[in-house]
This record gives sequence, C-alpha cells and structure tokens, in this order.
Amino acid sequence: MKGSRKGPTPPTLLAWLDDASPDWQPAYPFDRKDVRDEVRSCLFVEQRGLCVYCGRRLDLARPGETYHIEHFRPQRHYNALSTTYSNLFLSCGQKDEHGKPSQTCGAKKADWFDEDQHVHPTYPNCTQRFRLMLNGSIEPTIDGDGGALNMIKHLRLDHPELVKDRSDVLMLIDGGYLDESDFWDAGEQLAQSYAHLVFQHVGRLLP
Ligand SMILES: [Zn+2]
Repeated sequence: MKGSRKGPTPPTLLAWLDDASPDWQPAYPFDRKDVRDEVRSCLFVEQRGLCVYCGRRLDLARPGETYHIEHFRPQRHYNALSTTYSNLFLSCGQKDEHGKPSQTCGAKKADWFDEDQHVHPTYPNCTQRFRLMLNGSIEPTIDGDGGALNMIKHLRLDHPELVKDRSDVLMLIDGGYLDESDFWDAGEQLAQSYAHLVFQHVGRLLP
C-alpha cells in the first residue's frame, strides 16, 4: 500500500470551509474549480504522483480515467468527513485501462470501511504492514494482521494485474537493469509506478 506523506489543509480549501454560514454549508463535490484544483494538485504532490493504494502512476490530465479523489472513510458513512482534507487521497480511476469498471483500489473498496481493522494510508507505516514476494504477491508482514488482510481483500491488492506488474518491476531491479533512482525524479518530486515497493525492496524509503 503506497500511502501518502500528508500535509496541512491547502489554503484555498481552508478559506472555502471558513465561508460556512447558516445559508451555506460546504459539501462534496467542491463547487469551486480553484478549490478542486488546489486539493488535487496537493494530493498529487504528497503521493508523489502515485495511487494511494496500489502505487500506479496517475495522470492529472485525465480525471476519472486514471484517478479520482478518494474518501478513505467513505462519504456514505462519514459524511461529515467528505470535505476534510485528511480524509482525501488520490486513487486509480473508476475504469481500468480496458474501459471496464476498475477491479482494484478505491473503486473496488467503494463504501467498505472497518474502524477496527484497517491500515491508514500514512507512508511509510502503511507500506511496512505488507510483505512483497519476488513473484509479486503480497501478504501481511505480521501473520494474521487483520487490518492488512482487509486492505488486500477490499482493495484487491492481490489482483493478477497488480501481481504481474510488481513481479516485473522487481525482476528489473534484481536483474540490475534498473535501480531505485529510475523510479524517483528529485527535481519534479514525482515517482514512477510502484516506486514505494522498489524502495522498500532495497531497504530505503521513498522521499
Ligand atoms: Zn490504484
């Protein structure tokens, strides 16, 4: 699980929330483009351009297709958190690359949440709750970790496409064809798909 190095609430969102009055209450989706754009770009930077769950690279120019704004605690059950910045992340799009409904990540998780048995997407703690095998499979670092098992199940982190992608990346690293520097652009502060796993594999942390 990729997770995020979460920052403070962006100023534009803060000002928008402060406009609350008896006549108007903030609600999701954001009704102002500047608020939406700033939230989106802050989330993107905090997550180094990757899906908060699987770690695939997102494309900000293609909303809906490659990403959506994800409510970690789902709006349906936690409506009061629908505009709370700490509850917002970016996750893969609602459709997969073949145009079918996505079978992984936030779209798959939908309204599921378990207050007692989950892994919060705080990097690097969340990544360390999972152990990655050379064949790309994933399991809890600690056997029987119910939170980690729940995330694997509800995000489908064990989906065959993700397993194959992760295996391919690890083969390139272990084969000496690429190293962690190929997955991190320090100038742009953005990462390539699965960079968090590459860094974990070589015993480092993604900046
Ligand atoms: Zn994803």
